[in-house]
Amino acid sequence: MNFTIFFILLSCVFPMISFGENAFDYALKGQDSIQQKNFNQAIIELEHALRLDNRNNWIFGLLGRAYYSSGNMEKALTAFRQAVNLDDSDTYSRMMIDIIRQKSLSRSIKKQSKEPTHLEKQAIHEQKLILEKLQASQELGYQIKRIVIDPGHGGFDSGAVGPSGIQEKNIVLELALLLKKILDQKKNYKTFLTRTSDYYVPLSERTTIANQYQADLFISLHINASPNNSTTGCSTFYCAEKASSESAQQVAESENAVIQFDSEKSQSLNNKIDIEEILFFFERKLYWKTSAHLAEKFQKQFQHPLKNLGVHSANFYVLKNAKMPAVLFETGFISNATEESLLKQTQFQLYIVTVICQGLFRL
Ligand SMILES: [Zn+2]
Repeated sequence: MNFTIFFILLSCVFPMISFGENAFDYALKGQDSIQQKNFNQAIIELEHALRLDNRNNWIFGLLGRAYYSSGNMEKALTAFRQAVNLDDSDTYSRMMIDIIRQKSLSRSIKKQSKEPTHLEKQAIHEQKLILEKLQASQELGYQIKRIVIDPGHGGFDSGAVGPSGIQEKNIVLELALLLKKILDQKKNYKTFLTRTSDYYVPLSERTTIANQYQADLFISLHINASPNNSTTGCSTFYCAEKASSESAQQVAESENAVIQFDSEKSQSLNNKIDIEEILFFFERKLYWKTSAHLAEKFQKQFQHPLKNLGVHSANFYVLKNAKMPAVLFETGFISNATEESLLKQTQFQLYIVTVICQGLFRL
């Protein structure tokens, strides 16, 4: 068949796919779709990637994963087998084959448990290693194009309040709008806000918004407060299971406090093992690693007039479920009268936003 006709036919079948990208790009898209739980879309993207490169066991593994999650065990099995045929050291696909076989045998004998089996845990671990190896080998420079900016608090949740009555929620909204304005002027970026005026958005919804926008970076803006009103400075946080220090733990506790007003996220009641959720548990550690790197990069820029309080990590609810690198800035102490008065000045807000742009985007 003539090549042009083939591509025209292909674009009729897959109108959502634009040409000019390689198999790896499509595979990454497929991986993103899997993370968004958009399995049918993932299957289309991955099968397209395989049409461009059918010797890549990683793509077959992803396709197997997409089929597995969409419930098509037969096709999942075929894809995992092809992955193993191409690379017999692909233990992830090997284990997934065993898992699928085991499931079909045990279905009639016992009810499936929610807990992953030993084999499933091992498969998840293997998959994580493959992903890490792949990311290192492709030397993926992290490209930030889509940014979700999260002005902390809002509505009934005022955040910290300064000695003159200035509320954190209002200052961080001004900072967020300013940051969006500056980034929007650069053609390379697309920005989104989690809130655009004074209303409350539950913590978990803020990252859901970022996940829906398929952002490359999530920035949560806050202002710190301390019972000691002489404390000043700026610090950057990223998410981790354990806090890096007692003071980081305190900051997370104060930012997490509002969670009590957020409604419980409905839990899946069916017995099907959500392998995507379990995989995300591992994948987010990769995001946290990139977040730490970005936080360091940013924090280095912070100089006079704000004291540099360094990079810290803690378990922030607002960052936890981001399927992308995510950082939280505590830009000054509202409890300190001098920083409070600086923070309400447009000129100073512009300074902070400029530092963010220089630190993260070299603008
Ligand atoms: Zn806050």
